[in-house]
Amino acid sequence: MPVKLFGKKHELSLLKAMFMNGRMPHGIIFTGENGIGKRTLALYCASLMMCSFAENGEPCGKCLSCKKIEDGQHPDLIYARGDKYTKDSIRAIVRDSYYKPNDGSIKVYIFTDCEELTDEYQNLLLKIIEEPNDSCRYIFTCESPSVILDTVMSRLIHIPLEGMTEEECASCLKYLGMEQDKAVRLSAIYGANPGKALKAAEDEQLIRLNEAAEDLAKRIAENDEYGALLIISSFTERKEIFALVSQLYDIVCRALAGSGYLSGGAKALSGALTVKALYSLGEALLANIGKRKLNVSVKLMHCELCSELFSSILNC
Ligand SMILES: [Zn+2]
Repeated sequence: MPVKLFGKKHELSLLKAMFMNGRMPHGIIFTGENGIGKRTLALYCASLMMCSFAENGEPCGKCLSCKKIEDGQHPDLIYARGDKYTKDSIRAIVRDSYYKPNDGSIKVYIFTDCEELTDEYQNLLLKIIEEPNDSCRYIFTCESPSVILDTVMSRLIHIPLEGMTEEECASCLKYLGMEQDKAVRLSAIYGANPGKALKAAEDEQLIRLNEAAEDLAKRIAENDEYGALLIISSFTERKEIFALVSQLYDIVCRALAGSGYLSGGAKALSGALTVKALYSLGEALLANIGKRKLNVSVKLMHCELCSELFSSILNC
């Protein structure tokens, strides 16, 4: 079976088009938030590049090369990072790229977490990227392309990853072995990001907090101050309340940005509040985060927080 992907229709159609037109580039960079599947897509892309019987722009999943990649044992698929990037490891990659592939006709180097590639390391790599050897392909992944030097970036095809839907995220989590109910529950919170969902999966406290922040956002959108107070009051530890505030701030920022995946809470807020009200709510939350050291009773904190949030959106 080829490397399994969820969502990624746009990214796959780009890869397919390049492959079918015989224009598969020597260097590609996938960017986007951590946890959304950049590594898996890099692996898929490597399979496509190395597959012996790729058809219609897709790896066959059956040939020896595809099998070896699936088993993590392809000698010509090289994860450049290893434990971490060092000057020596980068130099070794540059040297290695001049040797012929072991198995087939090409070698693929995958550079994950390119935030860790210093300017010096990128400059060392520049030569092999600028004058690529016919038998080498380079795939890079990082959160933001801003960490890549212009000289390197200009040699790469940049494919930013789009988010997935909640359903695709749930299918991905189920595929990775999560129970149906939990997969659906976590997808409602972490929608576009199965990586985040997996990280949170073992931390019931964090899931509860994230769910409460989503609910709180919805209560604010519905102007239900009493409902909001009930949610806030269910947290009795100061640090939990601050974590809730900070999580809600994140949701408000997403609602303001209005792009990419919007969780239920962010969607409700962006539908119900004006931009001015969202800003004002965000400022009230920030002010609350700043109050971290104030020594007020927890009960008072609940009431103050709730009233500050609702007055911030009044008349906006
Ligand atoms: Zn194959």
